[in-house]
Amino acid sequence: MKKIGVLTSGGDSPGMNAAIRAVVRKAIYHNLEVYGVYGGYLGLINGNIKKLELGSVGDIIHRGGTMLYSARCEEFKTKEGQLKGVEQLKKHGIDGLVVIGGDGSYRGAKALTELGFPCVGVPGTIDNDIPGTEHTIGFDTALNTVIDAIDKIRDTASSHERTFVVEVMGRNAGDIALWAGLAGGAEAIVIPEENYDINEIADRLKRSHERGKRHSIIIVAEGVCRGEELSKQITEATGFATWVTVLGHVQRGGSPSAFDRVLASRLGARAVELLIEGKGGRAVGIRKNQVVDYDFDEVFSNEHTLDLELCKLSKELSI
Ligand code: ADP
Repeated sequence: MKKIGVLTSGGDSPGMNAAIRAVVRKAIYHNLEVYGVYGGYLGLINGNIKKLELGSVGDIIHRGGTMLYSARCEEFKTKEGQLKGVEQLKKHGIDGLVVIGGDGSYRGAKALTELGFPCVGVPGTIDNDIPGTEHTIGFDTALNTVIDAIDKIRDTASSHERTFVVEVMGRNAGDIALWAGLAGGAEAIVIPEENYDINEIADRLKRSHERGKRHSIIIVAEGVCRGEELSKQITEATGFATWVTVLGHVQRGGSPSAFDRVLASRLGARAVELLIEGKGGRAVGIRKNQVVDYDFDEVFSNEHTLDLELCKLSKELSI
């Protein structure tokens, strides 16, 4: 292994830059040359590849987004697209690739590995939904953005005795909603992994109201329904007027938290080591605060699971 590449793909997440920096610096530390592929798999197919130096990744550790840009690329799901990618990598003399992204990006990395081009996956997504790792890069930052918003909403909700529905990201995974609900002291958390009972939520809200609570916050993951829709259901079931806040893409941006920067640095560096050790076809992750690596198939053959203890606790504490 003399030259490696790095790309970011799929939905961006805060901390991707810190991961790129770790890959570049760790590679150069081990006397490898590093190439940045700009614009995900689309950039790979188009040969948008440039050499990166130590200084190329200076002053990015604290920045959200990704300096290598990201993209979605349908063509890369085809064998022809993947072969074009391999051709570009070979043209630049690159021997291995670090792919920072979500499970869709991992599928692309697995396909390249099966075509004989070793890739290692680094989990970059705010959704925290990659099987095999307890945290993904960006989740902690997104969570803190949500908490910041909830705290502010709570101030105004208390002043006016209002009920707020806050819609957060999470199409298939309820991690952001669950953690934010727990950390933000929400009355109810509505997540894709569990059916919700509007009457149960209504009873909970009425009980809080009766004991004089001046605000109520309900968190809903976008994958369940729109905040507006839940708000209507709550109003019908309780008679309370309900306000809605949709946080949207603010959750994707912002300076990464210290946790995400450290995680990104550890995982990015380990990805480079794996390529040096000749272990392509693997993903890196964190379990019990130890960096681990595992086969891509372990990602695809397992479902991401929510921490059920946290679900239980959130219900107990919002009694
Ligand atoms: P994420 O990586 O955040 O899950 P996507 O699911 O959109 O995001 O995947 C990002 C990109 O990865 C896609 O646009 C596509 O280029 C590539 N990709 C996704 N699925 C596959 C697949 N089955 N085979 C090859 N490449 C894929």
